[in-house]
Amino acid sequence: DNAQPKKPDWIRVKAPGGEGYLETRRIMREHKLVTVCEEAGCPNAGECWNQGHATMMIMGEICTRGCTFCNVATGRPDALDLFEPGRVADAVQKLGLNHVVITSVDRDDLADGGAEHFAQTIRAVRHRSPGTTIEILTPDFLKCDAGALETVVAAKPDVFNHNLETVPGLYPTVRPGARYFHSLRLLQRVKEIDPSIFTKSGIMVGLGEDRQSVTQVMDDMRAADVDFLTIGQYLQPTPKHHRVDRFVTPDEFAAYEKTAYGKGFLMVSATPLTRSSYHAGDDFARLRDA
Ligand code: SF4
Ligand code: SF4
Repeated sequence: DNAQPKKPDWIRVKAPGGEGYLETRRIMREHKLVTVCEEAGCPNAGECWNQGHATMMIMGEICTRGCTFCNVATGRPDALDLFEPGRVADAVQKLGLNHVVITSVDRDDLADGGAEHFAQTIRAVRHRSPGTTIEILTPDFLKCDAGALETVVAAKPDVFNHNLETVPGLYPTVRPGARYFHSLRLLQRVKEIDPSIFTKSGIMVGLGEDRQSVTQVMDDMRAADVDFLTIGQYLQPTPKHHRVDRFVTPDEFAAYEKTAYGKGFLMVSATPLTRSSYHAGDDFARLRDA
């Protein structure tokens, strides 16, 4: 039975609309850019897009992995579009963003996992919008040639985010194809290579994890020097995807947030509708100005 429990009233999704929303959509279409906001059917799209915040997904719409929580299509991806970094940079400039989040599908078909494309995109945005802080949300570069991660880090994103997504015990059913300790080590290596970059990671809850495992993930992240943490409720994109085990209450989220700050994270967002890119810019600006 893959039916999910009934949605509680704290998972409220406002219908998207409004001038800002439409303008963001127009700019995305005009630059032929894919957004994770749309691909994932993110519940925050109305709010984020109204403020011009969209998370762009580079390197195509087809992923070589098939995570069971994710709505992105699995298959053989298209060739890289060499003009994409320029279009992303153009869109960021038009949107006038103070902070941009750029993510991608997983490209196990490429020897460098798309590292050079990521680096080019960062450099293009930096060149056109030097005042914009850049956050990237990357794949795990698990099967790549040596040096892939170094290539991305050398382009100096302000925030390097890689999501652990769930507790290690659920990897086989939620994130097949990924390895918990590889992802953890990736985050640690970013910090080792360039300590000036903030590192960030996140998990979804409501997939069947217990509280103790979540606390363990926090400890593992801190041991890997991860700075920022996001925790949000998993929502099932379609009945074919991993089922929602339960809806974690707002009080439980608040308790997670408190625990996480106690462990030394610099910034924590833990609410039912938290997504890794939700309010990322505001939070980062607050931290920078503190
Ligand atoms: Fe897009 Fe992130 Fe906002 Fe969702 S939370 S709409 S993915 S920017
Ligand atoms: Fe989705 Fe990323 Fe998993 Fe691909 S690697 S299926 S885009 S979560």
